Amino acid sequence: MRQRNKPWADDFLKENSHFVIPNPKTYKNRWNELFGNSNPIHLEIGTGKGQFLAGMAEKHPDVNFIGIELSKSVIVTAAQKLMDTGHENILMINENAENLMDIFAENEVSTIYLNFSDPWPKNRHAKRRLTYHTFLERYKNVLDPKGELIFKTDNRGLFEYSLVSFSEFGLKLVEVNLDLHQLNDPENVMTEYEEKFSAKGQVIYRCRAQFE
Ligand code: SAM
Repeated sequence: MRQRNKPWADDFLKENSHFVIPNPKTYKNRWNELFGNSNPIHLEIGTGKGQFLAGMAEKHPDVNFIGIELSKSVIVTAAQKLMDTGHENILMINENAENLMDIFAENEVSTIYLNFSDPWPKNRHAKRRLTYHTFLERYKNVLDPKGELIFKTDNRGLFEYSLVSFSEFGLKLVEVNLDLHQLNDPENVMTEYEEKFSAKGQVIYRCRAQFE
């Protein structure tokens, strides 16, 4: 996701440290203290501009949502939008998902969403794909064994690659859907990319998988 550099982003993040949590590693195994309840934690990795989290937080007030987004310029846009919704069950982290195991304790997370992750089509960049086996290792560590990894994309190549990666890692595939929008699943919340690509007539793929 390309974003112009935003010189005000650092000040914004300082002023809104109650929402975009600085030093997230200090909250390892304590995230529910920040939410003030013991509801399950659902994590979206690569949140982008936050539309998915806004819709999910509205639909599921009894779930605590955390969005991790690498790009500072992107996360400030998401944070502005999400704070405006007034939902108290959302927090954000400006970090690389590579550091997941420093931020969350074993089994601390109930569900992980990967929505329209960057495809990194060149083989030499495979390690950057969020479904590469090193990332799966991190997800396995922080995810409750009964929890799900839910992955949506419009990118056929990334979807095929990810199914192979999941299968090689020993993940149990709970759902493989080759045309999600045909399902008319009332539970599906669209992301920005999902709206954009499906409006162009592109098929949306979804896979739900478990580590147990
Ligand atoms: N999920 C949104 C959607 O569906 O509209 C945004 C999709 S965008 C293609 C991918 C986002 O993932 C970008 O905002 C990018 O900065 C973020 N991202 C990529 N690699 C990441 C990583 N290792 N850790 C955290 N965020 C990452």
